Order: sequence, then C-alpha cells, then structure tokens
Amino acid sequence: AKEQAVDSRQMLFNFDMDVQIHRRQRLQADLREALKYKKLQLVYQPIVDLKNPRVACLEALLRWNHETLGPIPPLEIIEIAEKYSLANELGLWVIAETCRQLQEWRSGGLEPLPVAINISPSMHHLDLAGMINESLALNNLPKGLIRIEVTEDTSMRILKETQDLLPGLGRHNISIALDDFGTGLSSLSHLQQLPVQTLKIDRSFISKISADHTSRRLVKNIIGIGHDLGMKVVAEGIEDNSAAALLTAYQCDYGQGYLFSKPLAPHLIPDCCRQLETVPAEAAANDF
Ligand code: C2E
Ligand code: MG
Ligand code: MG
Ligand code: MG
Repeated sequence: AKEQAVDSRQMLFNFDMDVQIHRRQRLQADLREALKYKKLQLVYQPIVDLKNPRVACLEALLRWNHETLGPIPPLEIIEIAEKYSLANELGLWVIAETCRQLQEWRSGGLEPLPVAINISPSMHHLDLAGMINESLALNNLPKGLIRIEVTEDTSMRILKETQDLLPGLGRHNISIALDDFGTGLSSLSHLQQLPVQTLKIDRSFISKISADHTSRRLVKNIIGIGHDLGMKVVAEGIEDNSAAALLTAYQCDYGQGYLFSKPLAPHLIPDCCRQLETVPAEAAANDF
C-alpha cells in the first residue's frame, strides 16, 4: 500500500510537470505572437517624492492578458522570455513602447517624467545605452528620461561579465536603480562598487514596518546605508499611511505603492499625477 501511495504521488507529480511544461510551451509560442502583433501592454506606477507631494518618476510594468489563460504574471513572462531567447526582443519592445508613450503624454501636455524600465538578466549583452538613446531620439525626447532597474543578482552578474556596462550607462545619462534590495545575494562591498544612483528597498521589508520593530530598525538602517553611499532611496510597496509616515520620518526619499497608486493604464497617468500633487505629504504623516 505504501508503494502504491508513492506511485500515485509520483504520477501526480509527473502530471503537474506535464501541465507546467505544456503551459510553458504554449506560452512561448503565444508570446512570440503577442510580441509580433503588439498584444502586450505596459502599465505605469508613480514613484512619489516623500518630501514634496509630486510624482518624481514612473515605473513601467509589463502586462499580458492572454486570450484564453487570462492575465499572465510578469515574472512568468520574463522567465519564459529568458528561457526561449525572447528577452532581448521583449526588452527592446519595452524601450520602444515607453518612448512612444512618453511622446504621446508630452503631446497631450504632460510634463516629461522619467520612466524606469526593468532589465531582465540576459539583456545586458545588448548595447542598452545605444538602444535607449536611439529610441529617445527617434521620439524627439531628451536623454535621461529612461532609467533602468536591475536586481542585485543581475547587477552582480553584469559587473562580473561586462565590467564596463553599468558605468557606460552612467556616462550616457541613464540612471540605474537597484531593485528589490535586501532579497539578493549582494554584499556591502558589491554595493559600494556599483555605479548605482538609487536603492529600492524590497516590499517584503516595507510591508512589515508598521507592525514589527525589528523590520523598522532594519529599514531605517538600509536608508542610512543608501544615503552614506550617496544614493537616493525608494521604498517599494507602501500600502498604508503609517508606513509612509515612518518612511518620511526616516528620511526615505521616494515611495511607491498602492497607497499612492496602483500601476495604471497610460491614459490615467496625467490625472493621477495632478491628484498626487495636491495631496500634502503631511496628510500621511498625521494619520498614525
Ligand atoms: P518590481 O520591478 O519589483 O515591480 C514592483 C512590483 O510590485 C510590481 O508587480 C507592482 O505591481 C507591485 N507593487 C507595487 N506597489 C505595490 C503594493 O503596494 N503592494 C503590492 N502587493 N504590490 C505592489 P508586478 O507588476 O506584478 O511585477 C512583478 C515583477 O515583474 C517586477 O517587480 C519586475 O521584477 C518584473 N517585471 C515587470 N515588468 C517587467 C518588464 O517589463 N521587464 C522585466 N524584465 N521585468 C518586469
Ligand atoms: Mg522594478
Ligand atoms: Mg522591485
Ligand atoms: Mg519586487
């Protein structure tokens, strides 16, 4: 009986694997199509200046509403793109689409805001700076409007493999943020070597600061380390006023999260920017 149980567990496991492999293969074929026929979307989430009530930057986030499977989580899209050599094409689309959108906002009267795009692990083999600046120029946009976000692990790999890529981006006026900080494997000495202007503290720390004393001290110290290294600090995933108030008290520079806004379809961005400008920062601070 015991052997039978193991057998059926094994069968279930195999079945799960089959389902997973099937989904992957289907998604990679469909992702090729979606890229070709422009069926992917970007949504944009404001990154807010915690000291002045204004939107400092936007983060572009990938969305894919699959015809039959529904919304596909962005990390799954990236995983598939990486596995099937679609990461470069996808990344180039993100750059081009963001520039096109910036131009559209500008012609609608929105003051140009920098947009941060996420760079997937294998994209660093490309001439990123060249492509970003070419795409900006094509849309008559000034340099500096596109920023990039890399995770700690990706940045470590980039630094090891191509010594010059990250500093090269800096020379081209492309600012770099270290994403999901605190979840990767990088060390303080790595952090010190990185030509990074911004540190984004991962949501897993921010979500605990209102309730947990230790997380609070940790976040306060991470902000201090970022500032000691001459970086600006962003807190990711701020969902309530008490977290925003604490982060403001700790001198955190910027905040991002559902408290301010969820990621939005592009046409909703101009109104959202106007609204966030009229909400005074103290409103959050008073509401403990
Ligand atoms: P990320 O770069 O760390 O982006 C922040 C994620 O946190 C987004 O998830 C955003 O929707 C979510 N978020 C923001 N504020 C809150 C909040 O207050 N509460 C909660 N619960 N979540 C919040 P999303 O859009 O699902 O993206 C997940 C990840 O997928 C991103 O994490 C990024 O690593 C990756 N990703 C998204 N778009 C792209 C892309 O165009 N290219 C690449 N390479 N990766 C992307
Ligand atoms: Mg990001
Ligand atoms: Mg992040
Ligand atoms: Mg994250």
